[in-house]
Amino acid sequence: LSDKLEHALKKLSGQAKINEINIGMAMRDIKRALLDADVNYKVTKNFVEQVRKQALGEEVIKSVSPAQMIVKIVHDELVKAMGGEQKDINLKTSRMPAVIMVAGLQGSGKTTFTAKLANLLKKKGRAPLLIAADVYRPAAIEQLKTLGAQIGVPVFSIEEKDALKAAKQGIEFAKQNSKNVAIVDTAGRLQIDEEMMAEAERLKRELSPEEILFVVDSMIGQEAVNTAKVFNDRLDFDGVVLTKMDGDTRGGAALSIKTVVDKPIKFLSQGEKVDDLDIFYPERMAQRILGMGDIVSFVEKAQETLDLEKTQKLQKRLIENEFNLEDFYEQLQELKKMGSLQNLIDMIPGLSKVVPKQEIDESNLKVIEAIINSMTKDERQKPGIINGSRRSRIAKGSGTRVQDVNMLLKQFMEMKKMMKSVTKMAKSGRKITAQN
Ligand code: GDP
Ligand code: MG
Repeated sequence: LSDKLEHALKKLSGQAKINEINIGMAMRDIKRALLDADVNYKVTKNFVEQVRKQALGEEVIKSVSPAQMIVKIVHDELVKAMGGEQKDINLKTSRMPAVIMVAGLQGSGKTTFTAKLANLLKKKGRAPLLIAADVYRPAAIEQLKTLGAQIGVPVFSIEEKDALKAAKQGIEFAKQNSKNVAIVDTAGRLQIDEEMMAEAERLKRELSPEEILFVVDSMIGQEAVNTAKVFNDRLDFDGVVLTKMDGDTRGGAALSIKTVVDKPIKFLSQGEKVDDLDIFYPERMAQRILGMGDIVSFVEKAQETLDLEKTQKLQKRLIENEFNLEDFYEQLQELKKMGSLQNLIDMIPGLSKVVPKQEIDESNLKVIEAIINSMTKDERQKPGIINGSRRSRIAKGSGTRVQDVNMLLKQFMEMKKMMKSVTKMAKSGRKITAQN
C-alpha cells in the first residue's frame, strides 16, 4: 500500500497547483492502491471522496507545494478513518479483578496476544492472571502455560471441559491472590460457528467483562472485516487487536475495520515474541501506510526556525557547489535549533534510510566540533584535499580516531545531499507563493 500511495502522490509533485484534473488523476491512483491493499470498497470510495473534497477546498499554504499539501490531506484522512485518537482499554472497575475477555477465530493469535497483553500490563505495574478458557484442546492450555512461564504471569486452568466454570473459578482465584486483571483466553473455531458464538455470548453475559477484545489476523484481508462484523453483532466488543502485522499483510484491515464496525483498533501484534505488542496509534499507522515521513510539518518547522538569510546564503553556495565544512558546521548549528537531529532526519522521507542512526548521535556534535577545529582553513574549504596523512594528523590534533574523521567526512557528504533536498523543497514552496 505504501509504495502505491507514494507513487500516486509522486505524480503530483511536479504540479504547481491543485486542480480538478490532477486531483482526479491522483485520486484514481489512490483508489486503486487502497483496493489493492484489501481496503473495503465502500471505505475506499468514502475515503477518496473525502480527500478530493478537502483537497479542492483547501487553500495551498505558502511555502508548501501542492503535492505536499495532498500528502497532508491524505494523512489526516487516514488518521480520521482509523479513529483519530488512540483508545485505551478499560480497566476501571469497582470489583477486583478487572476482566478482559479475548475472542476471535482459531489461529487468529488470541493466546499469543493474551500473553503479550499480560506482559505489557505487568510492565505497567499491574498484577495480571491468565485464564485458560479454551478448555477443549489440552494443547491450548499447555501453550498458555508455556507463555505464562516465559513472562512470569500465573495461568489458571481446570481439568473439566467447561469454559464458563474455568473463567469463573479463575476470576475467584485472581480475587484471592490479589491479581487485579484477569485475562480470559477463549476458544475459537476455524470458521464462525453457532456453538462458539453462543459460548462467547454466555461468557460475556456471565462475566460482564470490563473489556472485550476481538482478535483478528490481518493477513486474511477482506475476510477480517466480515469476521469483525459477525463477532460485533453478537458480542458488541470494545476494541480490535490486529495480529500478524509483521507478516506480508497489505494493511487494508486497519483502514476498513473502524469504518465498518465502528470499534477502535487498540493493539497491533507483530511477531511471535511476547514483547512484539504495540498500542495502536492512528497517527503512526497513517504514517506507516503513507511511508513518506511528515513532509508538511518538516516544511513548516523549517520555515519557522531556520535563519532564512543564512540558509539562503548556504543554498546559494550549495547550488554553486561551494558548500564546504565551514558551511557544514554552521548548518549543523542551525539544525540543532530545530530540535533533535534524529527527529529531523526522521521527518525527511527516505533520509533515515540513507543516514544510519549512530552517525547522527548528538553527542557526536562535540567530536565534530573538535575535528573541524583541528583542520586548516584550506581543508575546511576544500574537504577533497583531506587525504590519509591529513586524516591521521586531524585525528591526533582533535584527540579523536581516524574513523571519527572518516565518519565526519562521510556525514558531510550526506548533509550535502540533505541540504539539496531541503533546497528543492524550499524552492518549490517559493514558486507557489510567487504564483498566488
Ligand atoms: P489462537 O488460536 O487464536 O489462540 O492463536 P495462537 O495465539 O495460538 O496463534 C496462532 C499462530 O500464529 C501461532 O503459531 C502463533 O505463534 C502465531 N502468531 C500469533 N500472533 C502472531 C503475530 O503477531 N505475528 C506472527 N508472525 N505470528 C503470530
Ligand atoms: Mg488459543
